[in-house]
Amino acid sequence: MERVLITSAIPYINGIKHLGNLVGSQLPADLFARYNRGRGREVLFLCATDEHGTPAELAAAKAGMDVAEYCAKMHAVQAEIAQGFRLSFDHFGRSSSLQNHELTQHFAGRLAEAGLISEVSERQVYSNADGRFLPDRYIEGTCPNCGYDKARGDQCENCTKQLDPTDLIDPRSAISGSTDLEVRETKHLYLRQSSMRDQLNAWIDSKTDWPILTTSIAKKWLNDGDGLQDRGITRDLDWGIPVKKGKDEWPGMEGKVFYVWFDAPIEYIACAAEWVDAGKGDDWERWWRTDKGAQDVRYVQFMGKDNVPFHTLSFPATILGSGEPWKLVDYIKSFNYLNYDGGQFSTSQGRGVFMDQALSILPSDYWRWWLLSHAPETSDSEFTWENFQAGVNKDLADVLGNFVSRITKFCRSKFGEVIPEAGDYSAQEAQVMADLQARLAAYQAHMEAIEIRKAAAELRAIWVLGNEYLQSAAPWTVFKEDPDRAAAITRFSLNLIPFYALLSAPFIPDAAQAMLDAMGCKDYAWPEDVAEGLSRLPAGQGFTVPEVLFAKISDGQREEWQARFAGVRS
Ligand SMILES: [Zn+2]
Repeated sequence: MERVLITSAIPYINGIKHLGNLVGSQLPADLFARYNRGRGREVLFLCATDEHGTPAELAAAKAGMDVAEYCAKMHAVQAEIAQGFRLSFDHFGRSSSLQNHELTQHFAGRLAEAGLISEVSERQVYSNADGRFLPDRYIEGTCPNCGYDKARGDQCENCTKQLDPTDLIDPRSAISGSTDLEVRETKHLYLRQSSMRDQLNAWIDSKTDWPILTTSIAKKWLNDGDGLQDRGITRDLDWGIPVKKGKDEWPGMEGKVFYVWFDAPIEYIACAAEWVDAGKGDDWERWWRTDKGAQDVRYVQFMGKDNVPFHTLSFPATILGSGEPWKLVDYIKSFNYLNYDGGQFSTSQGRGVFMDQALSILPSDYWRWWLLSHAPETSDSEFTWENFQAGVNKDLADVLGNFVSRITKFCRSKFGEVIPEAGDYSAQEAQVMADLQARLAAYQAHMEAIEIRKAAAELRAIWVLGNEYLQSAAPWTVFKEDPDRAAAITRFSLNLIPFYALLSAPFIPDAAQAMLDAMGCKDYAWPEDVAEGLSRLPAGQGFTVPEVLFAKISDGQREEWQARFAGVRS
């Protein structure tokens, strides 16, 4: 059986993500996972929370919680919201897991043995009051450029000028407010990515089928300026994975942790180990080790464009540099940004719709359909409430929902809630089947290529075919003269419902399940052959008229939501 390993970029732990984050990795990854499962392939779909680093520490402090406790709580919150959107992860792990500690330390040890780690002494700001080194963003002061008094050591939020901590006037610790700061010498480990530039270049060059968005970003980082730079992989923090060389201590690195960018992608692998340890699987190495069965796995990653450098360069450098037979990614699907109503989503200003808010006003299928059919693939795209309303009302309510409602109600009124037996199919049904077979082939081709907008457009066209057929066959008119022919049209149309459900399930899983349940269809196999797919409801089988599948969004609702999520401009 074909096997597909799918990972979504792992969301950072601090807070609930907005719809732009959702459509930039987790949601399209879920679409692809559901599609591949539908096609009968063996799928392992993994995601996790990214839990280390300074923002987690700051968020925990703000919440008055211990950082480990904070991360456990926020992981549960994110897992519940993911479930609300029907994200079908086989496991939703945590980068702070024991499995990730061991693997990250293992990789660092292997890289050191391969001569790919260097030790570098740096001068960094130390806070005596806090008893710790302060990363740039932990240092606040007055901006020398604009006078803003809460500028950070890396950048002034007010005038956007890039800063060094030493540029700040009256610098102080962002943690305690203490001004008792000094510059101290500290030692860090660097991954010598620059020495792997040729190897990485050759590997990227071999990926001729990757999206231009992915390869162009990778090439820019490899070749612009002085080329690929070495990167620090350690930090002077308490919260993180302790620096070790495999299982051994690393002399001179006591009290330091790995930098979050180094351990986060390794969680893709550790997450598979978590999946096994959670009792959900029995062998994770057959997905990840090419010497243990993973040589025939297809590995696809999903991410926003900001994550491309880490996934095309740094993580492959870690894997290749280890000299061990780990599975490398086969295809990277990257996304541009989704903007919000003429601007950007903003967490700090509460601007835009966040995942929990979205679920509080509408079922997940409405969001899934609109977001996926407007996925920011070739350029940034924009969420507007008008466009969202139009997409939901036209595609879901008027096309798919209306078709299901109209034919089931018609059948109930003329033949009862049972698939009618009389009459034969004519050239009209044969033509619809031929058209559907061609459209099905196109739909599958777009899904295989992960061309999400094109796949959504094709699926919609498949729904439209059914509506057009029903409109032109008009069983309500035919019934008066030829009830047997009307019965055949009705039987054919009713059979389109489970067919549509199976094709649509990757986009709108809840509605698809409701359609299958209403029709009493238990055959969930992918309908490769249209004629076979349209014969799954035998004459005489009972069904129930389903509840309204999709309610229309009214102008009043649209206006209310538009105002509610406009945010507070600062
Ligand atoms: Zn400034």
